Amino acid sequence: MPEGQIVRAVSGFYYIRSAEGDVQCRARGVFKKRKQSPLVGDMVTYEPTDPGQGVVTAIAPRTSELMRPPIANVEQAVVVASLREPGVQRELLDRFLVHAEREGLRIIICLTKGDLVDDSGEVDAIRTVYDPAGYPVLVTSAHTGEGVEELAAELAGRLSVFAGQSGVGKSSLLNTILPEVELATGEVSRKLGRGRHTTRQVEILALPGGGQVADTPGFSQLSFQQMEETALGECFPEMALRSPQCKFRGCLHHNEPRCAVQEAVKRGEIDEGRYRNYLQFLDEIREQRRY
Ligand code: GDP
Ligand code: ZN
Repeated sequence: MPEGQIVRAVSGFYYIRSAEGDVQCRARGVFKKRKQSPLVGDMVTYEPTDPGQGVVTAIAPRTSELMRPPIANVEQAVVVASLREPGVQRELLDRFLVHAEREGLRIIICLTKGDLVDDSGEVDAIRTVYDPAGYPVLVTSAHTGEGVEELAAELAGRLSVFAGQSGVGKSSLLNTILPEVELATGEVSRKLGRGRHTTRQVEILALPGGGQVADTPGFSQLSFQQMEETALGECFPEMALRSPQCKFRGCLHHNEPRCAVQEAVKRGEIDEGRYRNYLQFLDEIREQRRY
């Protein structure tokens, strides 16, 4: 039976992109019984019924599953922050990074509105912070096209989701890499052939340079619900790297003695701001567990 990927879902219909072209499918009732429903991003097997139509019969195991928006098999997060209007907000940036790490995604940081900054020192400082975590930092501008080719190269061959606070320029950037699709920016409602009143669903768009992007930003919910304290350190790669050298197994890198993370912070090998945000998030997780 043919296989494909669900790229859009609208009220019970799944639009599947396959080697045979686009197919509109319903799902087998059996999924409902199993309380499993196909998600945008799912790789599926389908049974053709009429030309261009079919029934989804099987869903392949997912490599990742985001909840907001619901999308399966995302491989990469482009975490977006703007250099100006507003400037980079480190705590928020780290919050997005932790959520992307939690899903096991490859991460790149994209600093937008590069046209509003003329001193590269600021960008270098941010690179110094995130280098030890292994995150590439790109600078882009939707206005001048700076960094857009570089970004397209990072997006090739993978399914990516953009994430970042509202106003940092995510839609503008998508517009730049998807010249044929018109996404609205700012306050204007989005186009893409859907009215204001239809419930917006996430859709996967194919990029001209290869790769795919979700048209809806990821991680719209940034609390640390259901997160274990010990899992937080794993979401800071530069800390996770050192935790095997901590004296105590399950060390939370807070006030434990002989903690390799605290020592690395003191030596300046782990950025202090990153560590402060780690402690802040750890506090939030503890607060939540109290209820
Ligand atoms: P989103 O909420 O993250 O999708 O952000 P938008 O793409 O809607 O952009 C928010 C605002 O920032 C808009 O007024 C854009 O015109 C502006 N903006 C977006 N990208 C750039 C850029 O590269 N340079 C400058 N100067 N402004 C930008
Ligand atoms: Zn430690």
